[in-house]
Amino acid sequence: MIDDGVIKYDRSNFSHSGPLNKDSWGDLEQWREKLYQLNLIGEYLPEKVGFGNLSKLLTREKGIQFVITGTQTGKFKNLTGDHYSQVEGYDLEHMKLFSRGPLEPSSEALTHAAVYESVSTISAVFHIHSTKIWKEMIDNNYDATPEDVPYGTLEMATCVQELIAKKESGTIVMKGHQDGVIAYATTLDECGKLILDLAKKFL
Ligand SMILES: [Zn+2]
Repeated sequence: MIDDGVIKYDRSNFSHSGPLNKDSWGDLEQWREKLYQLNLIGEYLPEKVGFGNLSKLLTREKGIQFVITGTQTGKFKNLTGDHYSQVEGYDLEHMKLFSRGPLEPSSEALTHAAVYESVSTISAVFHIHSTKIWKEMIDNNYDATPEDVPYGTLEMATCVQELIAKKESGTIVMKGHQDGVIAYATTLDECGKLILDLAKKFL
């Protein structure tokens, strides 16, 4: 079942703004382009539901803030400042997200927040989709969230945090979210490499 793209967090704290400055998303976009080319970010057809979302940490000084791909941008080959969104705060327990940008953040933004919260050195979170990688990771007993836990929920946030524990980098397969895989790391390049390694191994 394709259940991507539907925003489950409380959307009332989004403020609409102009395009985000390239300083905040330029290096993230380089990775996004690579993963798009591998079809690890894209759009399910004929349903026209976007999949895959990437984020990078901006600061932890006054609480965790990060930049993330906007909702329903999976279909675009390249993104611009019009397609990224800035998360400025969140409340996992109450499923609230405080954000600003030209577009609302990805429906999986709360999961990203949960990852950043787990370990203070994590600075990048990539969420990709691949039927093949997903199946292989399940068969090979990678860290996994349970089958009955859907994306974008508090349960998912809690499960992800339990799996990360104190690890600074790693990968997680989301059994209850068809094709869904997460990588997290201390740098964008390290995070991208984790995904490329999975692709090399299983695609
Ligand atoms: Zn997903």
